[in-house]
This record gives sequence, structure tokens and C-alpha cells, in this order.
Amino acid sequence: MDIRDLFPASGPVVIAGPCSAESQAVLTESAVALKAAGVGVLRCGLWKPRTRPGDYEGPGYEGLQWLMRVKRETGMRVCTEVATPEHVKACADAGVDLVWIGARTVGSPFQLQLLADALGASGLPVLLKNPLNPDAGLWEGAIERLKGAGVKDIGLVHRGFNTTDAAPYRNAPLWQLAARMKAAYPGLPFFSDPSHMAGDRRYVGELAQRALDLGLADGLMIEVHPEPEKALSDAAQQLSPRQFKALMEGLVRRRPSSADEAFQARLEALRTEIDRLDGKLLAILEERQQVSREIGLCKKEQGVEIVQPRRWEQLLESRLALAREAGLDESAIKSIMEEVHRMSIQVQK
Ligand code: PEP
Ligand code: MN
Repeated sequence: MDIRDLFPASGPVVIAGPCSAESQAVLTESAVALKAAGVGVLRCGLWKPRTRPGDYEGPGYEGLQWLMRVKRETGMRVCTEVATPEHVKACADAGVDLVWIGARTVGSPFQLQLLADALGASGLPVLLKNPLNPDAGLWEGAIERLKGAGVKDIGLVHRGFNTTDAAPYRNAPLWQLAARMKAAYPGLPFFSDPSHMAGDRRYVGELAQRALDLGLADGLMIEVHPEPEKALSDAAQQLSPRQFKALMEGLVRRRPSSADEAFQARLEALRTEIDRLDGKLLAILEERQQVSREIGLCKKEQGVEIVQPRRWEQLLESRLALAREAGLDESAIKSIMEEVHRMSIQVQK
């Protein structure tokens, strides 16, 4: 099987199922409901990487038989997480269709290499989640390890990042980082996992829609459990089959582009305007650099230090006040001003 084979003629492919397999009954019930909702690929964790020992760690190898039974009985494709070469071998031997590598494992190069070697030998298609920390290099490195080990069929799963300002979500989406990864690997199907981004079922729908709107969801991976409140892991973020069905029905799908002439003309005009404004922005930056150079000369003549922390504090504070007044994103303006200040210091000799 190829990951591309999973895609329907139109719209994203949807992979759904419980966070953890838990029992044959949970798995079967999930699969029957999801199949009725048009889902072709069932997900579930058999080996759950948990924060604390003693938290529910999934059924382990025993759950593989449950999964294969569901596959036989429903005809769905089945997908689970692998974290060791032993998991890979067991999945390949049992007939699992595709596997994913979880966020915790992606960030661990030694473990990932062992896993990549086993996956290369297995021929299994692999979905690679983003690492917990917002480090594109770590994600890219994992792709390189998989490719280097001979894994032919790779998909990426954007599940959000562990940052201090992720609220109200469990993991910050960091759409820009995701967009850069998708653009850097146009050949790899790109999935969005709004469940792990959200951490709370109330936000799963809006995140799924945002990912679709941004063009960052060739596919979706969503956690669905027959009785989410009773789930043994990730209870807060799992949807009931009914909630899942409502979500699917509510999603609006966009297209990559449109040939409509009026649309094309309007977009072109607006883009010209953006090009003009960017030109102005750069001209202002250049003018600012000139002034910074002169300031540098003044300071040098007087033997005054280049970095003046008090002035920088006041400058930043006043720019943030302006940003607030203008309704601009303060944290974005802060980053921009920090960069502008860095450039200014750089040209002061
Ligand atoms: C999961 O999909 O259940 C899971 C553990 O995902 P992640 O690795 O993204 O936390
Ligand atoms: Mn989960």
C-alpha cells in the first residue's frame, strides 16, 4: 500500500480512532461508527508513551490481534504508533497497513535511527509527527534518517508544539513552521492532527478548519472514542462518534486555487499593492539603517557605548503602545522590533 492510495478522489483523507486501543470492544465500536461516517483508516495507540510510569500505557502486543480482527471484519485500513524496532516487526508481521512515529520519539535521534532501520527493512508506510519542540531541523533530520534507511513512503503529521504560550491549546499550532515544512517537502502528504493540538475537544473543529483553510491538511488525523469521558488516555480531546460526524459535516473545504478571471484580477491587484507596500517598508528600513550608522558615529566620537538598554526599553515600550493602538499583534511587533534593533546595533561601529 502507498499513503497516496488512501486519498479519496476529492477532499482530505481522514484517519480517525481512539487515542489508545483499550479493548476489543472500544476498537470495534469505534471502527463500526467511523466506517459508517465514511472513514477508511482506523488509528489507535497500542504502545502509549506516557509522561509518568503507572499512567495507562496501552494494551501492547495483545492489542495487535484486536486491531487485525477489526481490519478483517470492517475492511478498514489500520494504523498504529511504533516506538521500537520490536513494535515495527510485530506490526509488519501482523499486517498493519501503516504506522506513525510519535512526537516524543521523533525528537530522540538514537531511537529514531533504530526505528528508521527497522522501518526501512519492513517496507511499511510511515507517518512522521512533528517533534514536541518547535525545531524544524529535528523534524527534517527525522525525514533524512527515514529516507536514508530506505523508507520509501513517508507522510508528515503536524500535531502542534510544546511551547509556554500554547494556551488555550495543549500544543501551539505554529502554522508558519508547518507551512515551511510542507513547502520544503512538496512530495510528502501532509496531515493535520487537530486533536493533539487542541488538547480539548471544544477546539478540535476550529483547528481542523484552520488547517484546511491554510492548505495544511492533505489529510486529517482525529481522535474519536465511543465514550470519550471514560477514555484511558487523552480523554479531554477525544470526540464521540456523533461529535466527529458533526465536525466532518461542518468542515468547509477550499481548493488550492481558482481559474475565475475576476478573482485572478482582484488577487493580482491586491498583490501589486502588497509589493508596493513591501518596497516602502524596505526603503524605510534602509533609511533607518542610515540614521543608525550616524548615531553610531556620534557615539564613537564621544566614546559612548553602542548598546543603550534604557533607550531600547523605552523604544520598545512606545512601539508596543503604538501597535496596541493600531490593533496589531503585539508579540509579532515585538519580534520585528527586536530584529530591527539587532540590525541597528550591527551597523554601529
Ligand atoms: C497519539 O497520536 O495518540 C500520540 C501519542 O500522538 P503524539 O505523538 O502526537 O503526542
Ligand atoms: Mn492521543
